[in-house]
Amino acid sequence: SRARKPLVAGNWKMNLNHLEAIALTQKLAFTLTDKDLDRAEVAVLPPFVDLRSVQTLVDGDKLRIEYGAQDLSTHDAGAYTGEVSGVMLAKLGCTFVLAGHSERRQHHAEDDQLVGAKVQAAYRHSLTPILCVGEGLEVRRAEGHVAHAVAQLDAALNGVKTEQAKSIVVAYEPVWAIGTGEVATPDDAQEVCGAIRVRLAELYDEEVAGAVRILYGGSVKGDNIAGIMAQPDVDGALVGGASLDPVEFVKICRFGE
Ligand code: PEP
Repeated sequence: SRARKPLVAGNWKMNLNHLEAIALTQKLAFTLTDKDLDRAEVAVLPPFVDLRSVQTLVDGDKLRIEYGAQDLSTHDAGAYTGEVSGVMLAKLGCTFVLAGHSERRQHHAEDDQLVGAKVQAAYRHSLTPILCVGEGLEVRRAEGHVAHAVAQLDAALNGVKTEQAKSIVVAYEPVWAIGTGEVATPDDAQEVCGAIRVRLAELYDEEVAGAVRILYGGSVKGDNIAGIMAQPDVDGALVGGASLDPVEFVKICRFGE
């Protein structure tokens, strides 16, 4: 048996139209059984504009899948044109919110300090942050990947209290594996996820380190998830491309079995 309940989260990114978002949520809800959802938590992370519809489906049909957002503002309200706050996401019934996805770091110049502020904003509204960390190809080639992930973790957890830290989800996503079809080996995933857990014990204590779920992300598919899930410090997956295909995503939620 596993020490932690695995989590599989589907990051839809900026994909699907409104009807497709509803159809995908319904297909997942029809296909995933109680047994599946006893074994693993499953969450979808739609674009902001589809959160309301997903909420209506989940509430109306008492679905056991969860949902969340791909980003949030560091502020709670005010003159921040185009931003969406944790207050708003909490009102929409979100459980999770991504913080520091590599695409935000790359295309929106999010640095560690900003990502840390987003983690704080999530906690202010009882949202569970899914903190994304991971190195690019150059850092990997220079063997700096463990230090890189640990430094991003340290920065984002600055000011996060022990009680809060217990509930965080960390996703190790090597940038070179995101959307490229190039998946990290199970050993690669374990190396960094294991180092993240060791660091959590140093920053907090063994209880926190033992409670936090650490996901792997990067070209996860139905036929490569089993090896990744077999690693002791990998507690699930953050899935991009394959989360748009209900058959593939359900396979991943079942760990390829
Ligand atoms: C992601 O965006 O978090 C991700 C892991 O994408 P993909 O599965 O497409 O590599």
